[in-house]
Amino acid sequence: MSRPDPLGRLVEQLQRLPGIGAKSAQRLAFHILKTPREQVDRLTEAISEVKDRVTYCSVCNNITDADPCTFCRSENRDRQIICVVEEPQNVSAIEKTREFKGLYHVLMGALSPLQGIGPDDLKIKGLLGRVGHGVEEVILATNPNVEGEATAIYLARLLKPLGVKVTRIAMGVPVGSDLDYADEVTMHRSMEGRREV
Ligand code: ZN
Repeated sequence: MSRPDPLGRLVEQLQRLPGIGAKSAQRLAFHILKTPREQVDRLTEAISEVKDRVTYCSVCNNITDADPCTFCRSENRDRQIICVVEEPQNVSAIEKTREFKGLYHVLMGALSPLQGIGPDDLKIKGLLGRVGHGVEEVILATNPNVEGEATAIYLARLLKPLGVKVTRIAMGVPVGSDLDYADEVTMHRSMEGRREV
């Protein structure tokens, strides 16, 4: 097979992005082709910069451009509470409520036997290592869907013997959904209504 032409290669790469099918990839590729050079350069620079400068915090796994991240370095955060979330973008959802002043721990996913994601694929060891250093409460803010619930139950079982209070956010967030789509009021209520598990 001959090497695909530049446009074909662009379509092929765009199609690898989540949620982009063959049609969308082709539409985007032709759009890029029509777009002025400077604008395209800004896009490619932004993509490179994300890969060059954004990394993961070695303490909480949140995305950051400095390690440890601003939360883990801050003097103003409550180090007695750790809020556990699945993905870095969930941190922003909780930060939007401006209520939570503790620290975070990002698991980088949730348990999902169907997708072959087990405990070893998640950042659980790091979390267990953080508990015991003055941490009094761990809030399990995994998504209110099957995987998130299973992950919360699994973590509670590991954390409680360590002598820490373990709480689960209230289900003000619609069941089966993703924390990303919870509005600020709902997120605030679910944090406030959290229960010990
Ligand atoms: Zn951090």
